[in-house]
Amino acid sequence: MPDMNLGITDRLRPILEDVKTMVRDEILPLDDAYLEEVGKGDRWTYTPRQTEILEGLKTEARKRGLWNFWLTDSDRGYGLSTVEYAYLAEEMGKAHLGAEVFNCSAPDTGNMEVLERYSTDAQKKRWLEPLLEGEIRSAYLMTEPDVASSDATNVAMSCVRDGNEYVLNGEKWWSSGAGDPRCAIYIVMVRTGDDDAPKHQRHSMILVPADTAGVEKVRAMEVYGHDDAPHGHLHLRFTNVRVPVENLIVGEGKGFEIAQGRLGPGRIHHCMRAIGQAERALELMCTRALRREAFGKPLAQLGANYDIIAECRMDIEMARLLCLKAAWMMDQGDARAAAPWISQIKVIAPQVALRVTDEAVQMHGGQGVSQDTPLARSWTGLRTLRLADGPDAVHRRQVARNELRKYTQERV
Ligand SMILES: Cc1cc2nc3c(=O)[nH]c(=O)nc-3n(C[C@H](O)[C@H](O)[C@H](O)COP(=O)(O)OP(=O)(O)OC[C@H]3O[C@@H](n4cnc5c(N)ncnc54)[C@H](O)[C@@H]3O)c2cc1C
Repeated sequence: MPDMNLGITDRLRPILEDVKTMVRDEILPLDDAYLEEVGKGDRWTYTPRQTEILEGLKTEARKRGLWNFWLTDSDRGYGLSTVEYAYLAEEMGKAHLGAEVFNCSAPDTGNMEVLERYSTDAQKKRWLEPLLEGEIRSAYLMTEPDVASSDATNVAMSCVRDGNEYVLNGEKWWSSGAGDPRCAIYIVMVRTGDDDAPKHQRHSMILVPADTAGVEKVRAMEVYGHDDAPHGHLHLRFTNVRVPVENLIVGEGKGFEIAQGRLGPGRIHHCMRAIGQAERALELMCTRALRREAFGKPLAQLGANYDIIAECRMDIEMARLLCLKAAWMMDQGDARAAAPWISQIKVIAPQVALRVTDEAVQMHGGQGVSQDTPLARSWTGLRTLRLADGPDAVHRRQVARNELRKYTQERV
């Protein structure tokens, strides 16, 4: 293995400073104004004020060259390493709009990775280019209501070839971002092979434009009572949805091969931002603990609050180092070797960020669960991150299997 450098490189330093400054001085101050607009009129459109805030910030970021950092190891954009990107994504995680302003938000980064690595020139031109420009958005449709989707071999949406078209039937849910009026393209995991095909060669990925006939928006799923409009997590029904055969990505049976490429970066990006959310929660906790008094003392000096603050700091530092190591493993170019490291951080980062955020909520008393701080919203997002992109148990399984493999030649 080459030397492991997890530090901030010279080329990253000025970019990181610019991103930090923009998040702190320009994006965070507008987060509340943006969120207050949700639900004014139709929940599933953007109000003129929301568009003005979001597009204004995006234009500013682009003008300063702060755009598409997630394109690691690529000729397009900066060509940063995953380790370098981790520092930037952490900063973006501190603001609700942070990732989107720099065109680095989920699920688009994972989807753009798929298009960048696996799609044809025509597919790139039609879908990747507008995504890279921040003109449209996308969704990734794997999870289904009727099957345990943490085991993706269960995915059942049928996709049958009929002449020059594929015909899709079935249901998907938790399709994040599909509520957004700008969401123009879905990458859909479907079943193309029968039971005779090897388990990991029965599935494919196919591009379905959101406005294709037969795609029905059944409802918006709620996360602890919140629908996350206008982004949304939709339940969709496909009835005889027809797309040209050219919309298939790579070929029939290649779904798992592509999923491996997609889910690695997508997952670690979530973890990087979760660490940013934890940092912000700790900052809010400390500020509040010093300013507010009870029983004649600042909250910080009461009960076990010193210990709580110290534990949060230590947990964040451990999570960040693990995240950087996983990022470094990805940078070595061996996806198989990096996978258990991504699984480790996918378990740790949401749990740590959730714990820190929960303590920050507690230190804020009633205000902590209200709309007056970003903590409650952040908590619900982090709680779902223990399920989304694979539940904790599935990632632990991956880590344990990798560990046990060291002691046996057989697959466990
Ligand atoms: C807010 C949110 C956004 C999401 N966004 C998307 C999206 O954009 N696209 C998409 O396709 N999906 C999305 N999902 C879905 C998410 O990825 C799935 O919910 C997740 O993969 C689990 O699948 P499932 O819900 O079918 O749970 P199941 O597969 O039914 O699993 C339920 C539980 O079973 C247990 N379990 C499963 N396997 C094991 C094991 N090996 N060992 C021990 N216990 C186990 C775990 O406790 C697990 O949580 C999103 C989910 C949420 C909540």
